Amino acid sequence: MPIDFNVEPDFQDKLDWTAEFVAEHIEPLDLHFGGKVSPFDKSNTQTQALVKPLQKKVQEQGLWACHIGPELGGKGYGQVKLALMNEILGRSSYAPSVFGCQAPDSGNAEILAHYGTDAQKAEYLEPLLRGEISSTYSMTEPQGGSDPAYFTCQAQRDGDEWVIRGEKWFASNYRFAKFLIVMVITNPDVSVYKGSSMILVPAGADGLEVIRNTGLAGEPIDGGDHAYLRFNDVRVPADNLLGDEGSGFKIAQTRLGGGRVHHGMRSVGIAQRALDMMCERVLSRETKGSLIAEKQSIQHWIADSWVQIQQFRLQVLHTAWLIDQEGDYAKIRQHIAGVKVATPKVLMDVVYRAMHAHGSLGVSNEMPLMGMWMTAPVMGIADGPTEVHKDTIAKVVLKQYEPYEGLFPSEHLPTRKQDARAIIEARLEHIAANQ
Ligand SMILES: Cc1cc2nc3c(=O)[nH]c(=O)nc-3n(C[C@H](O)[C@H](O)[C@H](O)COP(=O)(O)OP(=O)(O)OC[C@H]3O[C@@H](n4cnc5c(N)ncnc54)[C@H](O)[C@@H]3O)c2cc1C
Repeated sequence: MPIDFNVEPDFQDKLDWTAEFVAEHIEPLDLHFGGKVSPFDKSNTQTQALVKPLQKKVQEQGLWACHIGPELGGKGYGQVKLALMNEILGRSSYAPSVFGCQAPDSGNAEILAHYGTDAQKAEYLEPLLRGEISSTYSMTEPQGGSDPAYFTCQAQRDGDEWVIRGEKWFASNYRFAKFLIVMVITNPDVSVYKGSSMILVPAGADGLEVIRNTGLAGEPIDGGDHAYLRFNDVRVPADNLLGDEGSGFKIAQTRLGGGRVHHGMRSVGIAQRALDMMCERVLSRETKGSLIAEKQSIQHWIADSWVQIQQFRLQVLHTAWLIDQEGDYAKIRQHIAGVKVATPKVLMDVVYRAMHAHGSLGVSNEMPLMGMWMTAPVMGIADGPTEVHKDTIAKVVLKQYEPYEGLFPSEHLPTRKQDARAIIEARLEHIAANQ
């Protein structure tokens, strides 16, 4: 199957429209409200009054909530097209919300569409897809996020209800959410991979306590968007179990697969924007008698950044293309993990260079570069740290090999030369015998 990232001219027109629309209509929202009003805060009447007409324009273009598959009533554009869209949306923090594809709502909508009851879909999925409410996905626990084997937040069945007890950490956007999808242990006697389940919990349910709202660096203590939650025997109806009991881990993997590719492609957009800024600046400023752009170290940085972005962009597009071919995240999980591993490194390198090339201005609060650079460590942690994804890659790669029985490896030159000599001598003898 030839690899092809081309899109039809009609879709290219949509991408061009998206780029113009983001720059002209959405980036002013970032500049005016960024850091002050979260795009997830649907109670802010001013931002919502501005966002709603933009969402309508996106819907008219057929570009709303494009991650929803055709089986669920979505457009079914496929991951390559979604990746190309996300490359543009990555340039703006409000853009994913204006296009209805913001995480974690996008993944939560997919879970609800697959596993929710009709009543749950009416109450939560439909307003979520209309962009009227926000949601939270809560898996990480304070005592351990990278390894679900340490999770202890449990749900026990009591008659027609589930009773949830335990703590969750870094539940993003809970302060704006109407509901959470929580990963809980429903059978502590088996491994977490078979004993965890997903449960729908309405925000503000009785017994659901916010210990504090953790923020990222620079945000005030208890003034962030990532909730530390305690479930004090929170009761929800039995119907709120999403999917089969014990299928929590499987659902989590499916949910995160596409999202990692979208994050990857948004990071391509961020890195390209940083390179654009760097090139403009070094062409505009002189030092020691020449443009900064004429210094060899800066030229190497520009070349290194360009190469890294090209390599990463092709890696993400290839992974997106593979998802479209295979239709199954599990079959290509090393590729998805590869995107996750590469994402923070590209951002860290390219944005750092752009920041440094701007000098004091680069590290100041008058350029977006420090904020963009902060996304590098976050991308290395959120959805699981780099090391865990490297483990996945190594496991899949190692499965393709077998141990070699001999004392020396199969590529051992003296041994191979000896074998080759025997083969060549036999051939020469054959040639001589037939002359
Ligand atoms: C901005 C942001 C938003 C988030 N939003 C959410 C959310 O909405 N919902 C949610 O459930 N979670 C969320 N998280 C949490 C995130 O999923 C966890 O932080 C992540 O899984 C890592 O868990 P941890 O923080 O407990 O790190 P730990 O598990 O303590 O790991 C710390 C470090 O240990 C090392 N390490 C861990 N495992 C291995 C290994 N196998 N091999 C080698 N080294 C290893 C790595 O260096 C790792 O960074 C968010 C995190 C961030 C930063």
